Amino acid sequence: MSSLKRSPHDFVFKQELGNGSYSRVYKAVDKGEPQRVYAVKVCSKRHIINENKVKYVTIEKNTLNLLARAHHPGIVKLHYTFHDEENLYFVLDFAAGGELLALLHRVGRFSEIWARHFIAQLIDTTEFIHSQGVIHRDLKPENVLLHRDGRLMVTDFGTATNVNRDNGDKGASFVGTAEYVSPELLLYNQCEFASDVWALGCMLYQFVQGSPPFRGENELQTFEKIVSLEYPWANNTTGGVVALVRRILTLDPSDRPTLSAIKQDKWFESVDWRNRELLWRGIWQ
Ligand code: ATP
Repeated sequence: MSSLKRSPHDFVFKQELGNGSYSRVYKAVDKGEPQRVYAVKVCSKRHIINENKVKYVTIEKNTLNLLARAHHPGIVKLHYTFHDEENLYFVLDFAAGGELLALLHRVGRFSEIWARHFIAQLIDTTEFIHSQGVIHRDLKPENVLLHRDGRLMVTDFGTATNVNRDNGDKGASFVGTAEYVSPELLLYNQCEFASDVWALGCMLYQFVQGSPPFRGENELQTFEKIVSLEYPWANNTTGGVVALVRRILTLDPSDRPTLSAIKQDKWFESVDWRNRELLWRGIWQ
């Protein structure tokens, strides 16, 4: 992150891109560098305090700062933070393509070629996140944004945990999203690196089937389906991807394959994990 002291007056705020539980996100242009477009996340201090969100905002800032140092292409980069009397401001990479979930909804489901390309990027990014001691804990298509060039960028680190700093926050109560939550969190209140791997398995299923594997009429039903590993396969998907999803969606996290084992799966035979240029090619390049 740059050490330059910035303020809201350095940016021309354009349209609102969306809002979250404690923030609004705007497209903004840097007045100093007229071509440079960012997404600025504005968090109201009063709202954060009233809604007990201080912990999440702090985690998000610290984690984005930690991850920004390595310039990994799959992470939304935090460029600056500053505050005024009313708000905190996070100046982030602008993801012109919006959420991956919106793209998935537009097309219904991804072809195996696209599913492989996307999940390979997410595996590479998750491996990097884990290498920094961070468990994301809320990986899902809403938290994956598309850069202008079509490459995927993971965002929303508000519920992440750092195993080096807070001992993994392993006894954490439920964080994340019902459909992607791991069985170990539901059964034993435990969250580990393998819990992110579970979420990636749910996402791969969703890429090729169109909706997540575990979805009940309410959260309780969804949780029951997760712990009994009850999910359907529409017969439009067969072969290697089905076998890979089955491998990943293993109830016991110690039996679940690691990311490096997943990379060796037959379904990824065509992926050259060392060729980063090819791996990180966006869909519009
Ligand atoms: P919550 O905080 O409740 O989990 P959220 O993570 O979606 O929700 P924000 O991070 O404030 O909340 O994002 C709100 C919306 O703004 C997102 O849904 C997304 O559409 C948009 N957005 C967020 N970050 C960016 C970005 N870097 N580039 C473009 N759009 C973004």
